[in-house]
Amino acid sequence: MSDCIFCKIVAGEIPCSKVYEDDEVLAFHDIHPFARVHFLIIPKAHVATLADCTQEHERLLGKMLLLAPRLAQAQGLDAGFKTLINTGRGGGQEVFHIHIHVFGGGDPVPRS
Ligand code: AMP
Ligand code: ZN
Repeated sequence: MSDCIFCKIVAGEIPCSKVYEDDEVLAFHDIHPFARVHFLIIPKAHVATLADCTQEHERLLGKMLLLAPRLAQAQGLDAGFKTLINTGRGGGQEVFHIHIHVFGGGDPVPRS
């Protein structure tokens, strides 16, 4: 997707503050963090939203989810963290390349 900002990050065309990378997945700090630690886990292959995922994404989604606690702990979130997947315009999604928000630390974060 040539106009997708997260595809551009995957391609190295836009810089990011990397948290983790392998052949399928990239994680990087959110540019507008809403907690002391706030990073995003994305697949390298473009998928717009969670609602666009099919059976073929099952293993990849599981892998992304299992990375969350591992990476959160590595970022110092020993006491726990929140995860969030905004889906579609009605779900508050702004970047249409699926991502899991992982955030926590510092002051308590809003429940919304
Ligand atoms: P969402 O509303 O779930 O689509 O969230 C998109 C998130 O991407 C927001 O929290 C943005 O701050 C974050 N974001 C947008 N552009 C960048 C970027 N270039 N690097 C890191 N995070 C970004
Ligand atoms: Zn993309």
